[in-house]
Amino acid sequence: MKTRIAALIFAAALAIMVGCASGGGPQVPEAATPETVDSPPPSPVHVHDLGDATCLEPQTCKECGETVGVPLLHEWVDADCLTPMTCGSCGGTEGEPLPHDWREANYQEPQECLDCGEVEGEPLPAVFLSHGFTLSELGIAHPYITGTYADTSVPTKGRVTVSDFHVIEGDEDREAKEGFEWQVFRVLYEFDDDNARRDGMWWAVMWPCYYEFSLDKDLYLDDRVHTYTINFYGEDYLLDNEEDFVQDVLQSEWIAGKYVRDEINAIRVPVGYDGTVLVFYNTGNHPASRTGDLSEPALRSELIDNDTVFIRLAN
Ligand SMILES: [Zn+2]
Ligand SMILES: [Zn+2]
Ligand SMILES: [Zn+2]
Repeated sequence: MKTRIAALIFAAALAIMVGCASGGGPQVPEAATPETVDSPPPSPVHVHDLGDATCLEPQTCKECGETVGVPLLHEWVDADCLTPMTCGSCGGTEGEPLPHDWREANYQEPQECLDCGEVEGEPLPAVFLSHGFTLSELGIAHPYITGTYADTSVPTKGRVTVSDFHVIEGDEDREAKEGFEWQVFRVLYEFDDDNARRDGMWWAVMWPCYYEFSLDKDLYLDDRVHTYTINFYGEDYLLDNEEDFVQDVLQSEWIAGKYVRDEINAIRVPVGYDGTVLVFYNTGNHPASRTGDLSEPALRSELIDNDTVFIRLAN
């Protein structure tokens, strides 16, 4: 700039000197032209090339690095149990993930987070397994030792067979109920030893839950008039043998020195439940069989012995 002004002053001065030398008449000074003036081209004015602001940096000139304004605010997305609070724009995080919202393990499912669905560990082991009992198979006659009717301390050795296990929704005799189904099964008792022929026999069966098979549960000799609890998918169900049990006796008679009792039983359980364990025990183990007072309970641990037959209703 200074150079250009100096050039113009020089040009003007030159013109005046020329006028003076020639004398007479008005003199118009010659215009200075770039060709005649030795001056560099003007440099361009710098315009900032500003990028967008982010939540980490303000608007910044890509050329000179000068900044304008302030960074944007983070766009925080709430933390969940897998990720901490996270900015949707820059991906920055703050804090820790939330704790999982665990649903406790049950006998069917491992512990599971109700928020993210993560599972951890294993389902709980069925309590039945902790007792070391052995299940017997469906469809096979198993030796069954129980008391005679005249004196339950005198044993009779018969056989019990559980067969034809299947599940139905309901029918005219077994009322359907939302969320439940009927486990239908046949039980055949056979007694033909001398003790049974002489004194009759007194059999008994209970059907506790395979999953919550507690041994210190009170049990009545006539279990069919009582309620019991099963556990399935973490939920307790109170079943009532008056409503949730139906028995149809097909045969109950002595034929040529052999007693045969053939029944079709049905137990109403939650849909899919596979924890019914039929437990055929020796009535001689139950104090009520000797006192005759059926309101007298006994613990399962008193009733079960090495000859007890366990059959699970599951395919
Ligand atoms: Zn700049
Ligand atoms: Zn951010
Ligand atoms: Zn979770």
